[in-house]
Amino acid sequence: MICSTGGARSPESSVASPAAAITPSPAGRPAQTSSPSAGPSLENRPVTGASPSGAGPAPSAAPTGPVGAVGAAGALPRPGEVGRIRAGSGAALPVISAIPTRRKVVFLTIDDGWEQDPGFVRLVRERAVPITVFATRDAVEARGVPDPGAAGGRYVGAGKWAYFRELRDLGVPIEDHTLTHPNLWNLGPAAQRTEICGAAGVIAGEIGRRPALLRPPFGNYTGTTLRVARRCGLSAVLLWTASVQPGGKISYQTPDKRLRPGDILLLHFRANLARDFRILLDKIERRGFELGNLDAYLRAARVRLPVASVPTAPPTPAVPSATPPA
Ligand SMILES: [Zn+2]
Repeated sequence: MICSTGGARSPESSVASPAAAITPSPAGRPAQTSSPSAGPSLENRPVTGASPSGAGPAPSAAPTGPVGAVGAAGALPRPGEVGRIRAGSGAALPVISAIPTRRKVVFLTIDDGWEQDPGFVRLVRERAVPITVFATRDAVEARGVPDPGAAGGRYVGAGKWAYFRELRDLGVPIEDHTLTHPNLWNLGPAAQRTEICGAAGVIAGEIGRRPALLRPPFGNYTGTTLRVARRCGLSAVLLWTASVQPGGKISYQTPDKRLRPGDILLLHFRANLARDFRILLDKIERRGFELGNLDAYLRAARVRLPVASVPTAPPTPAVPSATPPA
């Protein structure tokens, strides 16, 4: 199912609060607060933010060209632009919900995989859109209950993993969103390991590259999640700062209701994703933002990612071109 059923975080939850993840917002940005408009169709907002350190920029980490093999499209960080994201404490992974930069750049992530709009793959190819995908096995393989909130619960296409291999071939990283999309708050270490490591293994087998990032369903995780995910070989937990609803409407997690530099946007694979995506891309561009290459920005923020291993033949690297406003 899609990430649409998350309610309010339960007060008794054991959600982790690793010191590395609880840091002030980047300078000039208000601290995140609960979105007063968050409705039942939204995923929970993440509780933690990116971790810009006071250690200054990381010029040596800033790449000068497309980094590795994944996510080859999109804006790349300039030297000194990106603050450092501190490593997780002890055996825990870092938790990231925004990229510490003042440049007007945002990052697009797409979750689950119930609906597989072929037009979306064409759009990513034609406009060289940098995206990162978080795939849930049961959604991709249509094993469970279809998403009732999208297109009446019908599947668009039956591409299964082939659909994601098409995206991979465009340079899109396919990351870990568990096997069955559970609320990890409710699972012990063994069950979390099954969900997280199991999905990493499935993705490695189907895509040919092990995932490096975990997005816990509903944004819910525990300290156990951060340790288990590291033992599964993952490098970071990636949350988000705003979600995008059908029609391209952005639901902000912050009171000012504006895109901010470094925001990570969450979408879902939906029946009309290509149509909605065009609206969103135009909206982002009209507001003067670029789309960033998440992999390159994470590396510039000194997140320890594995060496990219998948050969790609991305389209001409370019930021999405403008189209006339409707
Ligand atoms: Zn999800």
